[in-house]
Amino acid sequence: MTTDLTRATAAELADLLGAGSVSSREVTRALLDRTAAVDGAVHSYLHVDEAGALAAADAADRARAAGEPLHALAGVPVAVKDVMATRGLPTTCGSRILQGWVPPYDATLVRRLREAHLPLLGKTNMDEFAMGSSTEHSAYGPSRNPWDLERIPGGSGGGSSSAVASFQAPLAIGTDTGGSIRQPAAVTGTVGAKPTYGGVSRYGLVALASSLDQAGPCSRTVLDSALLHEVIGGHDPLDSTSVDAPVPPVVEAARRADVAGLRIGIVRELTGEGFQPGVQARFDEAVQHLVDAGAEVVEVSCPSFTYALAAYYLILPSEASSNLARFDAMRYGLRVTPEGVAAPSAEQVMAATRDAGFGDEVKRRIILGTYALSSGYYDAYYGSAQKVRRLIADDFDRAFEAADVLVSPTAPTTAFRLGDKLEDPMAMYLNDIATIPANLAGIPGLSVPSGLADEDGLPAGFQVLAPAMADDRLYAVGAALEARLTAAWGGPLLDRAPDLSEVTR
Ligand code: GLN
Repeated sequence: MTTDLTRATAAELADLLGAGSVSSREVTRALLDRTAAVDGAVHSYLHVDEAGALAAADAADRARAAGEPLHALAGVPVAVKDVMATRGLPTTCGSRILQGWVPPYDATLVRRLREAHLPLLGKTNMDEFAMGSSTEHSAYGPSRNPWDLERIPGGSGGGSSSAVASFQAPLAIGTDTGGSIRQPAAVTGTVGAKPTYGGVSRYGLVALASSLDQAGPCSRTVLDSALLHEVIGGHDPLDSTSVDAPVPPVVEAARRADVAGLRIGIVRELTGEGFQPGVQARFDEAVQHLVDAGAEVVEVSCPSFTYALAAYYLILPSEASSNLARFDAMRYGLRVTPEGVAAPSAEQVMAATRDAGFGDEVKRRIILGTYALSSGYYDAYYGSAQKVRRLIADDFDRAFEAADVLVSPTAPTTAFRLGDKLEDPMAMYLNDIATIPANLAGIPGLSVPSGLADEDGLPAGFQVLAPAMADDRLYAVGAALEARLTAAWGGPLLDRAPDLSEVTR
């Protein structure tokens, strides 16, 4: 076990806290100090809550001293993506339009973190309203990849992935509408899980596309994500799409890491052509490790996946254009009065505010979504996309008859350079080709590091998908793979990342 508290996993910290060897205050202090040292260069956070985190740490220490029954993660700090409402803490969604908004309530997930005594370190950076794969669409500047500061940390949840990868937080919360937990995990060498749709409450999550959005855990190990999943998951009467069933046995599955006899389906459409050679090579080796651990491999085909990206980029903008209508200059954050207008109407104020408050990508999607939903085009675009969505779910159903889990590389490439795909939205969208189908079908997915690609020495991700509410299978496969790969590497992959202690910017 490591003695540097910032490099300890959440499970290790839980053991240290449980044994009374460290206090939550010491752990929280160490992480805040690490942030002070490196976040000028990485920019994981939009807001650090030093006072709040230390107060919560003290409360956790007091609860432990008083002998209260505690979750294993009590006292282990967590960073939260700025898309979750946090009472008393700014929540901007990476947008100017929400600048200055301090929510009067907590998202259910945040409430659960607080009740389980996990100190909230701060709010992490993201692409504006979670639209993007790089954090470059954040109105507050991009986050950077700790493996190479000139590269993207993935998106939209690149603040959370980079915080975890740069040892500023052992745990973080992300949200995944089309891959925003899994792709950032893949390109930073970390773990991220998108639970089954409805498995974690969306109450207090600022909506991008309500039928696709799902919050979930980010961490450096599979077990840590499972532990966090257990805290945030489960039924919530405040979310009408919340599944009224117990959280799948994710922690037990992560601890057992048993894949003997499990049928692993390789999705033909999500491998090979279009995938960077080094990413594909690490994927092939990972499959072999699972075979060595007793799994069986089958090949499956999901022909409708060819249309997944097209369907997603009609459904998402449609829902987003409707969800973002609430930013009307009256209710939240920014209000801009148009210049040179003597007595501006509400509509003029709204237009000026939305023009100044939303970035280009958000405007692009609002325009696309409004068009797709307009009468006369609704059936042709939104209606067709919904039919494709059904076909994709049918493909998954068939594939899960032949296989217990499906696997693919998480993202087709390693982290690209900042600026590389900014001028070409389509190139950016293509980075989510392997993650989007799961959101359309509502099934759970997990990304675990598969190694470094030969051509650039950067991390690649291995994706596992399971049927709805079989989230535990993700953790069993992820943990089995992690155990074998960590042994083969002689330690965690992130031990090879630059340690950043020299950088100041
Ligand atoms: N990159 C995808 C998009 O831009 C996914 C975003 C997400 O999962 N929030 O829509």
